[in-house]
Amino acid sequence: MRITEVTTHILKQSAETAYLGKLPDGTAPRADPGYFVRPPWRSLYSARMETVLVRVSTDDGLEGWGEALAPVGPEVVAAIIDRLLGPWLLGRDPRAVRPLWDGMRDLMRERGHLVGHQADALAALDIALWDLTGKAAGLSVAELLGGAYRTRIPGYVSGLPGDTDQARADLAAAFAAQGATAVKLAAGNGIDADLATYDAVAAAAPGIRIAVDAHWVYSLPQALELGRELDHRRALFFEAPLAPEDTEGHRELASRITTPVAVGEAMRNRYEFRDWISRRALGVAQPDVARTGITEAVAIATLADAHHLPVAYHHSVGLGVALAAALQVSAATANCPFFEFQHTPLPYAQRILTTPLAAGPAGFTLPQGPGLGIEIDHETVLRLVKES
Ligand code: MG
Repeated sequence: MRITEVTTHILKQSAETAYLGKLPDGTAPRADPGYFVRPPWRSLYSARMETVLVRVSTDDGLEGWGEALAPVGPEVVAAIIDRLLGPWLLGRDPRAVRPLWDGMRDLMRERGHLVGHQADALAALDIALWDLTGKAAGLSVAELLGGAYRTRIPGYVSGLPGDTDQARADLAAAFAAQGATAVKLAAGNGIDADLATYDAVAAAAPGIRIAVDAHWVYSLPQALELGRELDHRRALFFEAPLAPEDTEGHRELASRITTPVAVGEAMRNRYEFRDWISRRALGVAQPDVARTGITEAVAIATLADAHHLPVAYHHSVGLGVALAAALQVSAATANCPFFEFQHTPLPYAQRILTTPLAAGPAGFTLPQGPGLGIEIDHETVLRLVKES
C-alpha cells in the first residue's frame, strides 16, 4: 500500500456564539476584521471555528483523515503539509506510522521541528496515518494501541460562557441536571473575581467538581494565593496558572499547593513533557492530540504513567476528526480520568461526520469501527471549505 495523495482542507465556520462567548465589554466578537484578543488573556482568537483537515489517500482506495488544532491561521499549517511534509509522504507505506513520524520530525530539524505550526501539521498527518492503518487492518486506533481500557470516557464541561456569575452558575446547574459531574471555569479574571465565580457555581450545582483555567495570566505570588483558596475548596485542578514557558514557577507552585496543577495544551512533544513531568511541575498532563498527534500523545501518556500522573487530554475548537482521535487515545490511556467536553464547538465538530459522535456533558462513547471510528461527510467538508 502506497500513499498517492495528501490533500488539505481549510475550514472557517461562522459561529453563532464564539468559542468562550462574548468579549469582556459585553460585545460579540466579529468575524470581520479578523482575529482579536480577549483581555486579560493574551492569545489571539477567532470569531469563527477554524481548522485544517487532511486527507491521505492510497493506491488501494483507502483514505485516512487527520486534523490539526488550528484556531488561528490554519493556512500556515496547511502550507507546511502541502509544501513540506505531504510531498515527502508520497509513495510511502502509511502503515509505518512510527518511522514516518520520525522521518517527518527529522525533515525540519534545527528549524523549529517539534513545536508550533510545524508540530501541528505533523500531528494532523500522524492522525491520518493511524486512521489509515486501522482501516487497512480492520481495527480501531484504540485496538492498534493495545486496546481500550474503557468505552465510556467521562467528561468535564469546559467553560461556562455567561455575562455574570449568576448566568454561569445557572449554566452549571443546567449541565449538572444533564449529568455533568465536573466543570471548568474560564478564569484568570483576578483572584477575587475567580473565587466569586467559583463560589457561585459551587452554590448552584452542589457536589459538582470545579476546575479553574487561569489562561496563563497570574504571577507566582498571585497563583499561590488563588491556589491556597482552591485547596480549601477542594478544586478539581488549577490549569495554566503561570506563563506557559515558566516551568520553574509551576514547579514551585505545584510543590506548595495540594490542588493539582494542570498543564499541557501549549506543549507538543515528549521532550517538553519530560522536563515538566520529571521536575513535578505539573500534576495533570493535558496534551491536545490535534497538536501532538497520536504517536506523540501515547509517548507522553507513557511518560506520565511512569511518574504516576494522570493524563486528561485537552480539547478546544477541533472538529470531529480531532475529537475522535482524542477519544481513541483517551480510551487507550490507562490513567485518563476525564476528557474535555466543549459544548460550544460541538455542533460544528459534528457537522463534518456522517454519524455524530456520542458526546454530552457527562462524557463520551468511544466510536466503534476501524481507524478513528468515524466517517467523513465529504460533500459537507467541500461545501464548508467553499464557504470559508
Ligand atoms: Mg486551557
